[in-house]
Amino acid sequence: MSKLVQGYEVVIGFETHAQLSTKSKIFSRASVAFGAEPNTQACAVDMALPGTLPVMNIGAVERAIEFGLGVNAHIAERSIFARKNYFYPDLPKGYQISQFEIPVVQGGEVSFFLEVGQETVRKTVRLERAHLEEDAGKSLHEDFIGQSGIDLNRAGTPLLEIVTQPDMRSSEEAVAYAKELHKIVTWIGICDGNMQEGSFRCDANVSVRKPGGALGTRREIKNLNSFKFMQQAIDYEVRWQIDQIEDGHTIQQATVLFDPDTGETRAMRTKEDAADYRYFPDPDLPPLVIGRDWVERVKSEMAELPRVMAERFVKDYALPEYDATQLTQSKAVATYFEATAQACGQPKLASNWIMGEVSRRLNASEMAIEQTPVSAAQLATLIGRISDNTISNNAARQVFEGLWNQEGEVDAIIEAKGLKQMNDTGELEKIIEEVLAAHPKNVEEFKAGNAKALNGLVGPIMKASKGKANPGQVNALLMKKLG
Ligand code: ADP
Ligand code: MG
Repeated sequence: MSKLVQGYEVVIGFETHAQLSTKSKIFSRASVAFGAEPNTQACAVDMALPGTLPVMNIGAVERAIEFGLGVNAHIAERSIFARKNYFYPDLPKGYQISQFEIPVVQGGEVSFFLEVGQETVRKTVRLERAHLEEDAGKSLHEDFIGQSGIDLNRAGTPLLEIVTQPDMRSSEEAVAYAKELHKIVTWIGICDGNMQEGSFRCDANVSVRKPGGALGTRREIKNLNSFKFMQQAIDYEVRWQIDQIEDGHTIQQATVLFDPDTGETRAMRTKEDAADYRYFPDPDLPPLVIGRDWVERVKSEMAELPRVMAERFVKDYALPEYDATQLTQSKAVATYFEATAQACGQPKLASNWIMGEVSRRLNASEMAIEQTPVSAAQLATLIGRISDNTISNNAARQVFEGLWNQEGEVDAIIEAKGLKQMNDTGELEKIIEEVLAAHPKNVEEFKAGNAKALNGLVGPIMKASKGKANPGQVNALLMKKLG
């Protein structure tokens, strides 16, 4: 499935920081609410005052367990917190508490559909791990004359860092993975997914190689906080690396930043290796022990996962896998689909309408399904009127338009616009006879064996009926009359 760029294969691995939706910090009781005045939400623990000790927030652990269950991973029964040592002004302890050798979530996978040319293919990205850690504070450079300020509100905010294997082979795959992961964490409700506020930020590790060769040296693009920038940044980075190699240079492992204004990536620092951080187990925190009963309890309290719901849609509604996946892009879409399908008893038609006309209109007006003016009950009635032959598919689109513009209920709109199909055979037969009389040449040709001559008759009949004739019925009657 890999798509080559100038003869090179692209290799991408992701590290995503998802801010967990707890009320308080991972090791202290300070609030994590966004947007507070600097340093009003930093307690003694977050400021690393001497003598303070971290205390594990159970809510953060529970969210990590939920994530692990959501991606079919192994939840470690015993995981370890480690100190990742580095000096930075926004890190008063001089180390970040993270997990290193034994993370809480191990393995797992994220899979999604991807359009490749005309085809829709399923792609699965393996996860390496997901570990709990605390966020650092923030340096503020803007509001100070000649000085920098430190805001420790963010220090100690709970994060789940989700790391993939280097399984992605194009920027499109990378973006599709990030969108799917975003869907999973917001669906489960462990992260609010707000990318502007930094609640979900991705680091893309990018390298290139000649197909079949060893992995190339990667550069890591930090803190991508929009899907659009993600795509631009990776595309730029890939071209840059290929140009370097083609010019005879070697790639240095580095951390780079994407500048949305120039559309370029720029080296920030050469990359540290794990050894530079002098990781060691944090003596202030005991091992994190998660019993099977805890995992079972969390599992029993979790809402149905998108993946499980999609499987159920395939089984219960006989939907193709692709439809089921599309309809479980968000809980709201899934709910809308189920309500429509159950009310009209035609799941595949409901799916076609939601993925077709409904999404088209929503996209055009940049609306979410929650805001649709067409209720599931109305869509179900509309589908019912197509299958009981009251209206044609074409007319149904006009009725949908009417529903969207809130012109009334389905039957009233059909009436008002005069869209009812002509199901009265007497009237239709009269029209057919007139058309046959007016087109003797087509009749002759058809009888002589030219099946195509029929088209020259169907058109005028539909026209004479003002589009209200039922095409199936027209065909049947024509065949009868022409023998
Ligand atoms: P670190 O934590 O130092 O950034 P890791 O070895 O944990 O390093 O890898 C981080 C990410 O980089 C993972 O998602 C991994 O899949 C990815 N990765 C590793 N090697 C490569 C490579 N050669 N090209 C692209 N991505 C890679
Ligand atoms: Mg990294």
